[in-house]
Amino acid sequence: MSTIFGPVHSRRFGVSLGIDLSASAKQCNFDCLYCELAPAPAMAHQHTVTPVETIINDLKEALSKHPSIDVITLTANGEPTMYPYLDALVKSLDTIKGSIQTLILSNSACLSDPAVFDTLLKIDQVKLSLDAATPETFKKIDRPAEGIEIGTIIESITRFSEAFSGKLFLEILFVKGVNDTTEEIEALNRALLSIQCDRIDIGTIDRPPAYAVQGLNFEELYLLSQLFDPILPIHIVSRTHASATPTNYSDSEILTTLDKRPLTIDDIQALFDAESQLRFQNLLHHGEIAQIERSNVIFFTPSKNINRKRSK
Ligand code: SF4
Repeated sequence: MSTIFGPVHSRRFGVSLGIDLSASAKQCNFDCLYCELAPAPAMAHQHTVTPVETIINDLKEALSKHPSIDVITLTANGEPTMYPYLDALVKSLDTIKGSIQTLILSNSACLSDPAVFDTLLKIDQVKLSLDAATPETFKKIDRPAEGIEIGTIIESITRFSEAFSGKLFLEILFVKGVNDTTEEIEALNRALLSIQCDRIDIGTIDRPPAYAVQGLNFEELYLLSQLFDPILPIHIVSRTHASATPTNYSDSEILTTLDKRPLTIDDIQALFDAESQLRFQNLLHHGEIAQIERSNVIFFTPSKNINRKRSK
């Protein structure tokens, strides 16, 4: 079985070849309610480990077939930072990747390990999950292995965000009735304000989950996004947009809405009816609305805000 999959086309990250660092079985230090993989007890260490040489040979073969790649994504059937030879693998990737970027998708739990922290500093783009900020909700949604604490994770992400010079993305996945309460959003908001990142992607369940839980619809996700501080670079991931019901907005409502939270064209098409979309285009044409780019995603915001919004 090859350890490489793809190419996968993603609007957020470009054309990617994925490396699966746990190709033969799920090995994860979480057992998330929403996991797309089958439920499995959280474990502290990988039991089955693929040699670095095997991965590099698989990747060279894949790159010879698909040379036009933007990113090599380190991921796993589980948590990629549990891979014990991650540092050696990243060093080997650097010798063959040329101008291709490296990206890792992590649940953040191992970031408190100094070796993992240092290895992730060497990767071009890092995406870290943060589904909760209170211990109760964290244990409920992510079901971590013994000894993993959310306070330590938030402290590690904050330190990492200060030390990392590449692109840092955070991801929050919302599960109905679990991490979508006002108290949890307030706690997440406080944590996020201490972290310097390029973008915060918020999304919900869109594939069959490991356990019997439900996702949110677009309107619910959009309302949640409004509860966060407007300075945070929040992006609602686009797979949720299909469930939206477009509404009529006046010019001032459009500007107020964008003032609270910059929106992407997907958000605008999901929220605004046809007449409101024409009003939006008119405001854009007359310079009352401006575009800002955050790591491959274009957002629209009132022009007067363009210098106010924080970037990394
Ligand atoms: S961290 Fe990822 S792989 Fe692990 S249980 Fe959660 S969703 Fe599944």
